[in-house]
Amino acid sequence: MQLQQSDLSFKKVAILDQTQKRQNDRTWCFWSRQQTNWFDEIVYKRWSKFRFTSSSINQVYELNPYTYYLIRGIDFYDYCLKQLKQDGRFEFITESIRQLSSTSNAGLVETPSSFYEGQYVFNSAFRNLEAKPNHVNYVQHFLGWVVESDTPVFEADCPVFMDFSVEQHNDCRFMYIIPHSSTKALVEYTGFSSAALSKDIYESEIKNYLSTRFHLNDYRILETEYGEIPMAESLFINPYGKHVVNMGTAGGFSKPSTGYTFYFIQKHVSAIVQQLKTGGNLQLPPRELRFSQYDRIFMDVMASKKLPASDLFSGLFKDNKIETLLAFLNEESTYWEDLLIMNSSPKQYFIPSAIKKSFGG
Ligand SMILES: Cc1cc2nc3c(=O)[nH]c(=O)nc-3n(C[C@H](O)[C@H](O)[C@H](O)COP(=O)(O)OP(=O)(O)OC[C@H]3O[C@@H](n4cnc5c(N)ncnc54)[C@H](O)[C@@H]3O)c2cc1C
Repeated sequence: MQLQQSDLSFKKVAILDQTQKRQNDRTWCFWSRQQTNWFDEIVYKRWSKFRFTSSSINQVYELNPYTYYLIRGIDFYDYCLKQLKQDGRFEFITESIRQLSSTSNAGLVETPSSFYEGQYVFNSAFRNLEAKPNHVNYVQHFLGWVVESDTPVFEADCPVFMDFSVEQHNDCRFMYIIPHSSTKALVEYTGFSSAALSKDIYESEIKNYLSTRFHLNDYRILETEYGEIPMAESLFINPYGKHVVNMGTAGGFSKPSTGYTFYFIQKHVSAIVQQLKTGGNLQLPPRELRFSQYDRIFMDVMASKKLPASDLFSGLFKDNKIETLLAFLNEESTYWEDLLIMNSSPKQYFIPSAIKKSFGG
């Protein structure tokens, strides 16, 4: 979409996917302070505040200058497919990709029935995590239900970013609520850990939460979504050569400490379009070194379990201005703001992890 809307001149783009993207398979939320975006038409909801809850805080945060956005997967797919199908430069091919590679001047895609060759291949289909044994490679795993009740129980104007009031099981677990209205919301049970849980655990936790938190025992489940997002300290590598550019999660754009990806993909794509205009290098690192170092330290503290994850996140919310925290988590904070965040972190846990991660840990 960003390529289509740019003034870059190009001949043809083939978009290969093994599916036709007709399912509402995900809900994308993210925060941004940008006033206009190419996806404005398909923003389903936007909020100016959200709630954070744990045993020590239960607070609503005004997000200004940020806005918290929701885009439904199906609206995104429908919109992009419609726009691009009207533009003769884009061709859609529904095939399963077998292999990617590069020659000295082109990227190659192999499917069971064809070979395709292009100046560049942009890949988000194959993810190659080069896992290292001393790294923390967590996964953000979640199952959510869009539920509808007859009684108004949800705060329609205020999503719940994290609610740590659920049993922690010596782990990091929280509820995430995205209200569609006062009677309808996506309620998601989420964990940050080395492995996902069995499906019945997410479901019983959601049922239990709806019952205890909202006294809701009678509701309709309209949709279900399940996801696993890598929260990886190790790097996603590119074994396909220089004419293949990895994007999305495959490119390392899922932020290790939060799992948020959508916003980083937008920034990456916009940088790629810029590089295509100027003829610059397209193999861009997913983040600045300082942010990957902060993430490595944060993940190490979380994995050590010396400080409960709920206290770790509560500390970030309690001791920082929300605007600074959101800038930091979006990797657009200044060095000074980074220092403020670091200064607010409990040093007895962070300093050992910082030393460990700075000296080869
Ligand atoms: C349920 C869910 C909810 C999420 N919510 C959020 C959120 O709220 N905020 C956020 O920032 N991030 C979120 N994410 C994380 C991230 O933004 C999404 O996973 C995003 O879709 C990643 O984009 P991608 O291009 O890397 O991968 P995908 O969107 O998964 O695209 C990869 C594509 O490759 C295709 N493919 C795979 N293998 C092949 C093959 N062999 N041949 C052909 N095609 C193939 C797939 O069909 C798919 O269309 C969520 C993820 C999930 C799963």
